[in-house]
Amino acid sequence: MKTPENSMTISYWQKSEETITRDALESFQLEKLGETLRHVYANVPFYRSRCDEAGIDPSRIKSLDTIKRLPFTTSDDLRLNYPYGLLAVPKDEVVRVHTSSGTTGKPKALFFSKGDIERSANLIARCLVMTGTGKSDTLQNMMTYGLFTGALVMHYGAERVGALVIPAGPGNTDRQISLMRDFGTTAVHITPSYALYLASVLQKKGIDPGKDLNLRRAYMGAEPYSEETRKKIENLFGIDVYNSYGLTEMNGPGVAFECPYKNGMHLWEDHFLVEIINPETGEVLDEAREGELVITSLRREAMPLIRYRTRDITKILSDTCACGRTHRRISRIMGRSDDMFVVKGVNIFPQQIEQILMGIKGVAQNYQIVLESLDQLTIKVEISKDLFDGNIDHLLKLQAAITAKVRAEILVKPTIELLEPGTLPVSEGKAKRVIDIRTM
Ligand code: AMP
Ligand code: ZN
Repeated sequence: MKTPENSMTISYWQKSEETITRDALESFQLEKLGETLRHVYANVPFYRSRCDEAGIDPSRIKSLDTIKRLPFTTSDDLRLNYPYGLLAVPKDEVVRVHTSSGTTGKPKALFFSKGDIERSANLIARCLVMTGTGKSDTLQNMMTYGLFTGALVMHYGAERVGALVIPAGPGNTDRQISLMRDFGTTAVHITPSYALYLASVLQKKGIDPGKDLNLRRAYMGAEPYSEETRKKIENLFGIDVYNSYGLTEMNGPGVAFECPYKNGMHLWEDHFLVEIINPETGEVLDEAREGELVITSLRREAMPLIRYRTRDITKILSDTCACGRTHRRISRIMGRSDDMFVVKGVNIFPQQIEQILMGIKGVAQNYQIVLESLDQLTIKVEISKDLFDGNIDHLLKLQAAITAKVRAEILVKPTIELLEPGTLPVSEGKAKRVIDIRTM
């Protein structure tokens, strides 16, 4: 079996920070939490009044639990304070802004100081070195450059480790393939939905990634995807896929990342303090339970956020990891609490459906979930071209198999529509998997 031990030597970018003992890590977190609270108390009226109301004196922070007395910061708080309300340094100290769009109203603006850029590049460098990317690699960055953090933050980190970075951005698939061939791309940074599409284009062109490309690994994130999708993409390209998690509010990518053991994503706890809460009640849960991830930034200078509600559902894995890193891991993101939908009274995450679909032979790369009424959903599934061979039996069998497997998982019987590959819209950025026509 291919194990991380015999396929690569374990290396670190910042070994002492990455393998720090738990005791030392917790003391360090306490020190940085104190610094962060003093910084926002002095510079952000929004947080000063919150500390005052909770009776917290930032000059005397004795325990990490102190923050549990402060209210959460939500994306609405960011919107209401748009653009400069939560800035903690003079504007002259800010060198970059990113925005995160969200679905409604005003955007959220997130600022970076020079130090913030430096630290975020180092966190990405940790992630890349951890998974074997270094000087000899060529990383093709297929995330969107611009106001999103995805591409730029990864770009700086990849340059930091000395890789050759191709700032390709997403889309223009023919050009992506030429770039991959011309420059011998070894790693890509890509969304799962675009990776699936790229694989289908390679197939159509008769390009065998194993023979015709030099690709070894993909860094994949920005949207929830299942373990089945990871495996499918690993097999289609013959590469390793590493899960990469981050959000604009916490620098963008580089918050948590898989190591070669791929058993959850190490979350860099010397930069981020995490809690898990019940998304409905806000109650702090035992960290081993699944719930919403709440993050306090410990090192952000321009715009620290205290107890930020990510809306992402996960749990914390505290057992030791064989790679030697002591930072705990979070499990694959189950979905966003606001992505969950209810059919026939059952709570369903799109990823539960995806996991089933991607594990079924004959299912191709793209699908869409259509919510039709409170008790009816349709799943449109692209299937492999050779199944349209004129024999209706093959299609009926597959349709019945998908219906049964999805029903067993979500306890609701879906209508399954089988489609030829290339029928459903393809997204270059974050995929829109669920179409809700109940309120349209
Ligand atoms: P943005 O701030 O626009 O970069 O979006 C951040 C959001 O993307 C996160 O809060 C997650 O909901 C989602 N996301 C990012 N990386 C992942 C990942 N690896 N798995 C699941 N969701 C992710
Ligand atoms: Zn590890």
